[in-house]
Amino acid sequence: MAFIKINKQNFYHNLNQIALKTGSVEKIAIVLKDNAYGHGLELMGKLASEFGIRHAVVRKTAEAEQIRSLFETILILGDSIIKDEKYSFTINTLEDIKKAQKGAKVELKVDTGMHRNGIALDELDEAFALIEEQGVDLIGVMTHYRSSDELSSEFFWQQKQFETVKQRVKEAGFTNVRVHSHNTAAILRSKSFDEDLVRVGIGIYGYNELPHLFDEVTLYPVMSLHAKKISSKVLKAGERIGYGGDFIATEDMTVSTYDLGYGDGWSRGNSAQPYVTSEGLPVLGRVSMDSISLESDKEEVCVMDDAQVAAKQFGTISYEVTTGLSADIAKEVI
Ligand SMILES: *Cc1c(COP(=O)(O)O)cnc(C)c1O
Repeated sequence: MAFIKINKQNFYHNLNQIALKTGSVEKIAIVLKDNAYGHGLELMGKLASEFGIRHAVVRKTAEAEQIRSLFETILILGDSIIKDEKYSFTINTLEDIKKAQKGAKVELKVDTGMHRNGIALDELDEAFALIEEQGVDLIGVMTHYRSSDELSSEFFWQQKQFETVKQRVKEAGFTNVRVHSHNTAAILRSKSFDEDLVRVGIGIYGYNELPHLFDEVTLYPVMSLHAKKISSKVLKAGERIGYGGDFIATEDMTVSTYDLGYGDGWSRGNSAQPYVTSEGLPVLGRVSMDSISLESDKEEVCVMDDAQVAAKQFGTISYEVTTGLSADIAKEVI
């Protein structure tokens, strides 16, 4: 099966770049949701913990369980709220507070313009009252920016809204509440960071989806995707490859199949505009469930060492390319 190499040096480089922005490693909460964006939950958790990262963010409690011993705090973005000394849970709706276990640690997500999840500004007082009534422990307040990766004033408007929220939390008498709003794009463009935590995902894996204007920080991809040869053959001019025979050899050529396909979460793409591997080999014909063909007889090929390049080819973003890869692809740290 195809395999993934995890470049530890690049990962630590990226973490250092973020730490320069936040002012300290302690302020980084590493986002490990969705199998660490396809990089491997436990593996990336371990590397991050060895680097000195103390806080993690995941989607489900089951994910948190797998990395429990590695971090001081784990924020769970979307699961039933239970009492736990290490876990805190995002409050996305007023309903969440009513269903929370007494004594649970919660972090209030406030909707400052994303309009996906979070408490509306005019629901804040009700939320505060419910928190008291339910006997849950408010330890954080957070928001998520809608357009931190775009050049619009919306981002500044949301930041301003969040300032109001912080003030309201303080006025309501809550203490020891950590505040956090920045994802990767927001921290990369920030000039003066003064919150308690950043929640960084894509950046630590090596990608920056901001316009090039914000390229002052260089990040390096952590993941590279490799495939192994299954078989080779010599094609004669005119012979075709794969389903539909979309590729026709124009001359005699040596081709091999490699053990990566859309069944592994690799995009099937469009054979008329083939993806070109990071070693410069175009994928010949259609991508099968478990294999691709390349003009090569190498035992091993590097299919991708930059998910942003692949994303451009497939009309998506780096997030989707890496996160889509199957969790059971073997990982190796280099
Ligand atoms: C996924 C997620 C992040 C991380 O975003 P990146 O753009 O990958 O840095 C931060 N906060 C929340 C609430 C998220 O869901």
